[in-house]
Amino acid sequence: MDNILQHKNIDVSKTCTFLSIYARYLYHEKGLKKSEIIEELNHIMNLYYPRFNPVNWSVSIEKYAGKAGKYPLCECKGIWITENELQTIEEVQDKVLGRLAFTLLCLAKFRNYRNPNNNNWVNYSNGEIFDMACINTTAFNKDIKFNRLLESGLIEYAKKVNNLNIRVMFVDDNSRQKLLITDFRKLGYEWKLYKGEKYIRCTGCGILVKRKTNNQKYCKDCAYEKQLERNRDYKSQLLIQDIF
Ligand SMILES: [Zn+2]
Repeated sequence: MDNILQHKNIDVSKTCTFLSIYARYLYHEKGLKKSEIIEELNHIMNLYYPRFNPVNWSVSIEKYAGKAGKYPLCECKGIWITENELQTIEEVQDKVLGRLAFTLLCLAKFRNYRNPNNNNWVNYSNGEIFDMACINTTAFNKDIKFNRLLESGLIEYAKKVNNLNIRVMFVDDNSRQKLLITDFRKLGYEWKLYKGEKYIRCTGCGILVKRKTNNQKYCKDCAYEKQLERNRDYKSQLLIQDIF
């Protein structure tokens, strides 16, 4: 991360990715609160981004600061999911449960990477897990889905009564590496993409989104940013025409 900060100018085309990673770094490694992250993001943009206008960026900066804690800071190149692990998830009949199992697997393996003594435990709130799994459902249904994974032996709960502690029982690092996961924002979609559904990675921020048209390049947020940019360019064109 410190390497990124050494660069004099931020690569403008990747600003969203940069803000997202830097916000996560400030949250996870520096322990900053949302308001402090906003302040720091504005500060760094001011230093390195040419023609930085805080008004144009306030929505994005607010968003990345707000989501900083949601996603793990992945310093590794990615997490390998193995053939046997994928096979186990393929055998889950219910598609939504499969996505949930895949998400828990990725999170457990990520935590194993960060802490070799982790032993396949996952410790995130139900809300965070379902967000990453891209599953929209009620709290009641979340419990039911966890229970179904429990019944099928794919997960276990901690002995202490604590809903936050789930152990994934089908991690198999001895099997052949097959799928590399490098982005933890939309794990549910990563699974759908693996299963052949139509998703694209946004050219701006790299997030996975469902493909709606053939030439789609951006997610909703980046498309909006692009539109603002075009409008600004258009306005400055008009201004120049007015002057001359
Ligand atoms: Zn995007």
